[in-house]
Amino acid sequence: MTRTNVALRRTPEGRRLLRAARRYKEDSPQRAALALDDWFDKAKARETFATSLATEKRFATQLFKLVKHVADFIMTTFDTQDSQQTDGSSLWEWVNTVSEWAERYSEIVEPWAQAAVVAMHKRIEKANADDWKRMSVLMGRALHEEIANTPLSSVLGQLRSDQINLIKDIPPYLAQRVWNAVYKYTTEGIETSKRYDALVNELRHIGLDRAKAVLIARTETSRTSSVLTEVRAQNAGSPGYRWQCVHDGRARPMHRYLDDLCNRQGKVIPWGLRPECDKGHYSHAGQIWNCRCHEAPVFPLPGEEIVFATADELAYREFLNA
Ligand SMILES: [Zn+2]
Repeated sequence: MTRTNVALRRTPEGRRLLRAARRYKEDSPQRAALALDDWFDKAKARETFATSLATEKRFATQLFKLVKHVADFIMTTFDTQDSQQTDGSSLWEWVNTVSEWAERYSEIVEPWAQAAVVAMHKRIEKANADDWKRMSVLMGRALHEEIANTPLSSVLGQLRSDQINLIKDIPPYLAQRVWNAVYKYTTEGIETSKRYDALVNELRHIGLDRAKAVLIARTETSRTSSVLTEVRAQNAGSPGYRWQCVHDGRARPMHRYLDDLCNRQGKVIPWGLRPECDKGHYSHAGQIWNCRCHEAPVFPLPGEEIVFATADELAYREFLNA
């Protein structure tokens, strides 16, 4: 039994919907579509098409492995430096060694990066396809076939090459942080005797910092999932979607506003119009850095009126007390 069915079974309304969907899918896909629209209004159903946290964490763990590997190189080569060196010249020689190594390593790591990205895509593609399967239980076989036959290779290929580049940038990014740290400790006039310890401390900190790995993992798993939903929905004839926020207080005010516009005011965001979800940045739900929102595609009945959000409504607005 699927996760959504379990969730739906908990309420009388959900159980009614499940029974209706089972009946409708045989004789009336259109009534099933109506039930589906109902279903999307239910809070539990909003979870469909959200990115799995487990996939995000698994990807972050892999990226952090790369961070630790680069940090190991930094620490082991640093330990061989002469800590009593006073003019800092050997320190800068070492910084150059780290930079050169990081540039080379960035190229060597490409097959590993590719494997990590492909594994992440597989998990997301499966989860996304499972969510669509759940929808086609309600909407009938036609949708199921549209979804199964959506061409994805070009969109996945584009994501893959972007994401491999982000991973390849990790070693040079860490080398840059080493450069910054050494610059700071050689120009701030810290006593030489204390400088070594302070620098070691800072270098250790660089190797323990999960922020970069988490940011890439969160943004890219969410973006992959969201782009798949977008491509599959459009291929199946969906005119737009409703923005879905994670309601945990960390969501950006503008993203909460877009959720409200869709779910309280009933507007539909057309696929062709990307909301200005951060100042000067236009993207659909889940496709911008650190965004955990997702799209709930809309499939109106033939002849059913839907109200699209306008460019004006989708423009960025400042929120006081944000
Ligand atoms: Zn968001």
